[in-house]
Amino acid sequence: MKSHHGGLYSGPHCFSCGRPFDLDHRRAGDGNIIKYCSKGCRSKKYEKDKKLEEALLEMIKERAPKSICPSYFARSYFSEADWREKMELIRCAGRRLALRSIIRITQKDRPVASLNFKGPVRFSLLDDQ
Ligand SMILES: [Zn+2]
Repeated sequence: MKSHHGGLYSGPHCFSCGRPFDLDHRRAGDGNIIKYCSKGCRSKKYEKDKKLEEALLEMIKERAPKSICPSYFARSYFSEADWREKMELIRCAGRRLALRSIIRITQKDRPVASLNFKGPVRFSLLDDQ
């Protein structure tokens, strides 16, 4: 099994939103593992929504080797009224899948250098899946 923090993106990444964060060594004392970048992520725990993650991966697999736009998935998974406000949930799920080396997140056909990316991205299946 590939490590959670392996592959393209090194260093600590939030278990919830998948963004990289700086480890605060005061918080990390006594051998505690810091999983979340913020109180918000620790309380929301987006990673518990396995249904969304699985549905997203399903669509990415269907489209392989082509990439998908996260908003394309959002429109099919959520209602017309609220898909826009759910976009961040989908980006979080995408980051988590990228951290597990299952998908690739690209901007202008290049893998994003950091999961703290801004602007539009696309998701595609990694070749060895
Ligand atoms: Zn987070």
